[in-house]
Amino acid sequence: MLGDVTSPAAAQIALAERYAAHNYHPLPVVVAEAEGAWVTGVDGRRYLDCLAGYSALNFGHRHPAVIQAAREQLDRLTLISRAFHHDQFGAFCAELAALVAASRPADPTLGRLGDRDGRSTETMVLPMNTGAEAVETALKVARKWGYEVKGVPDGRATIVVASGNFHGRTISIVSFSDDPDAHDHYGPYTPGFVTVPYGDADAIAAAIDETTVAVLIEPVQGEAGVIVPPDGYLRDVRRVCGENDVLLLADEIQSGLGRTGTTFACDREGVVPDLYILGKALGGGVVPVSAVVGSVDVLGVVRPGQHGSTFGGNPLACAVGRSVVALLRDGSYQERARDLGLVLRRRLDQLVGKGLVSVRCVGLWAGIDVDPALGSGRDICAALADRGVLAKDTHGSTIRIAPPLVIEQADLEWAVDQLADVLASR
Ligand SMILES: *Cc1c(COP(=O)(O)O)cnc(C)c1O
Repeated sequence: MLGDVTSPAAAQIALAERYAAHNYHPLPVVVAEAEGAWVTGVDGRRYLDCLAGYSALNFGHRHPAVIQAAREQLDRLTLISRAFHHDQFGAFCAELAALVAASRPADPTLGRLGDRDGRSTETMVLPMNTGAEAVETALKVARKWGYEVKGVPDGRATIVVASGNFHGRTISIVSFSDDPDAHDHYGPYTPGFVTVPYGDADAIAAAIDETTVAVLIEPVQGEAGVIVPPDGYLRDVRRVCGENDVLLLADEIQSGLGRTGTTFACDREGVVPDLYILGKALGGGVVPVSAVVGSVDVLGVVRPGQHGSTFGGNPLACAVGRSVVALLRDGSYQERARDLGLVLRRRLDQLVGKGLVSVRCVGLWAGIDVDPALGSGRDICAALADRGVLAKDTHGSTIRIAPPLVIEQADLEWAVDQLADVLASR
């Protein structure tokens, strides 16, 4: 296929190589169409999508309800800007706020600062577009809250982050990345961040001082290789934050919206962060939609003109976002992620010692470490693509398996069969 420069796939790859910046190193698959968990290449070949756009495609490619919402909105109104109201905006914010509020735990000690201190717990939404913008928004809100509510001296705020983090690609965000590829040669860097080991709540407690306004963590670290923290970590972090009047910012961009078997990964420990940072699947695989969701005591610090986005909360994004919130409302996708996740875990565990060194699973999401003697993660992913399975390596010999939640069990098991064959044949 690839040697044949006359093929449509090879022609497209040649154009990309020549005219696109080389900030990615894609596998040589050229996708033309997709539906559900399956994609079709320009050569007509079908592949099972086990990456799902880094969880932007939790509900599969072109989910009928999402496409219908997008189509209807395309025929009515697509953009107006926040200078005016539009008829999808309030409804989207209200419905997303209700989805988040439905995750409130019975135990109020695990809830927001507002729960404990008797402040308002009314939930509000600040819509943006990409994940990185939502993270930036949460960082800005946390600093502003620190100065205006907590009383930290202006310009001194610090935010505690975890090693191995991935929160996006802006200069401020890569300033506190410890991945050399993401970080190096983009300085001067944004100050005000303190890094502690992931999974260690005591280290967070030790890092907090009177300048600390927030702790930013991923409840499960996706890019790092689906790193699931020890049981109780999120609860301990919640407690430490509450005791020190520090905001907990949960980056649920990849872990949220059904992937881990609950609406949010924080739900697994009954923890409610002060700010949820959402993205990826919120756009239904159609448009970029992100949002920061939190209580009025925190998000209320942003007043007109102090933060914004031309495209944030646009009518098309809101219509699509509403359709995604509707898909999550009855819990069936979350249940599906749990059930299929058990199948995935059982099947992958059987491959430990047969080419896999270790497996980490949470919901329908797995990080697998391949025996480096069998090749790099990329080598394995290339071999999987040859067998019709699309997956992505992350660091070294780690591969992430995160199919759309709509995948059929038989297809999921077929994908693991292909992995088993690839490992056995090397
Ligand atoms: C993908 C991701 C981001 C960045 O989202 P973009 O839409 O690519 O800017 C931030 N945090 C986490 C955890 C992510 O997985």
